[in-house]
Amino acid sequence: MASSLTTFSDEARIALDTFSGRAAGLFSPSLRLGVTGLSRAGKTVFISALVHNLVHGGRLPLFEAQKSGRIARAYLEEQPDDAVPRFQYEDHIAALVDERVWPDSTRAISELRLTIEFESASAWNRMFSAGKLSVDIVDYPGEWLLDLPLLGKSFADFSREATEMAASPIRADLSAQWRTLAAAAAPDGEADEMTARRLAESFAAYLKACKLDDRALSTLPPGRFLMPGDLEGSPALTFSPLIGASDGKARPGSLGAMMERRYEAYKTHVIKPFFREHVARLDRQIVLIDALQALNAGAEAMADMERAVTEILACFRPGRGSFLTDLFSRRIDRILVAATKADHLHHESHDRLQAIVRRLADRAIARANFTGAEVDVVAMAAVRATREGTVRQGRETLPVIIGTPIAGERIGDETFDGNTETAIFPGDLPAKPGDAFKPRPDVEKSDLRFVRFRPPKLEKTAEGVTLSLPHIRLDRALQFLIGDRLA
Ligand code: GDP
Repeated sequence: MASSLTTFSDEARIALDTFSGRAAGLFSPSLRLGVTGLSRAGKTVFISALVHNLVHGGRLPLFEAQKSGRIARAYLEEQPDDAVPRFQYEDHIAALVDERVWPDSTRAISELRLTIEFESASAWNRMFSAGKLSVDIVDYPGEWLLDLPLLGKSFADFSREATEMAASPIRADLSAQWRTLAAAAAPDGEADEMTARRLAESFAAYLKACKLDDRALSTLPPGRFLMPGDLEGSPALTFSPLIGASDGKARPGSLGAMMERRYEAYKTHVIKPFFREHVARLDRQIVLIDALQALNAGAEAMADMERAVTEILACFRPGRGSFLTDLFSRRIDRILVAATKADHLHHESHDRLQAIVRRLADRAIARANFTGAEVDVVAMAAVRATREGTVRQGRETLPVIIGTPIAGERIGDETFDGNTETAIFPGDLPAKPGDAFKPRPDVEKSDLRFVRFRPPKLEKTAEGVTLSLPHIRLDRALQFLIGDRLA
């Protein structure tokens, strides 16, 4: 009897908890914020810095709710999706703040819930809203997002486009091995696992090479070839485009039929569920791009980045009748395209970087035939690893940035030890944004100079309290992404 009583009250309590959980969900609104960008664009650093600055009341003058003192507190809560790994915020902050090393980058999807208690600026809102907003931050590889256009392409389309792209001047040398293998693999030949594997591995190696620093290319589907997540080594990834593949006509038992089946399986079992469960539920999105890396690599890398941003925008706001419309349960209403790592430039160049990104986004919007969501751009550094100064050289005064280059980084014949501060003249960005997209045959390599710096040493107040992570325009990004929901 006693035991059944316990059971009863336990169950009642669980029921009550569930009810109050639901009620809380009803009354405190949530906003799902997607954070994406190709690998090493700066997603992990961005999320860590954003949360750190909100939780620790950082300097955010352009984030209105914080500036006017209306944020009572911000804290982490348990995320609502049990099946998604949690974003390892504490580990990342320990790396950044205690060890002054950059945290481990995004390899798959993860999520974090940040709850903000605030006082509304308007008396009307104060009466009706709980003054609480939960921001569910969803971090996922941009490579996976760029898979979305494949849903609208047959295996023959995919093969044709991939083959054309692989032969383009900027890619031809990197894809040489795959093109040789593919030329020898007739779609009508016998299906053979080893051939499939060799082709898939060679195609993946070529995509990886495109991503490296000196090429810095952005459009590289299938995305799981670069960022496999938990699919590493699985048969779903053992396919490759084929030269001369034709739609649905492949002879059963042929290599063409095998590749087509796997390509379709990739769409059905990998791409679609990912979009339905994650991307389609987002309210807002930030797309991080490493524009400096692309600028450094030249006009082709910029054009490629523009193509990637165009595809990304088209994914988020599919037009009527598009194969994507059915997959979306919510509508993304704000998208921020953010160039990260602006702390590699002197502030005189920040506006130039922003103008270049604006130009890129405008052209992408025009090409994606995109309407209905607000798009803004920003040049920012989620974590500012440098300060500014000037250096006299003869009669000239040069604007420089000062930071601690990571051990092993080099400029000219100087190699850094990871402890010494150094002043660097980073070079100038083009004053006319259009110039960033033009080939410069006279310039062998861009004249920008970049080294990677260690994260900054955090300052302490007179009372010995560590200040939050310094940044550039992170507050502007926050204002655009969530500011209106705290009004
Ligand atoms: P992810 O792959 O998108 O998660 O990229 P990360 O956030 O891990 O960033 C990749 C690398 O870019 C880091 O290890 C840093 O070296 C660099 N980085 C990212 N954000 C910043 C920034 O705001 N300032 C500076 N100086 N470097 C950054």
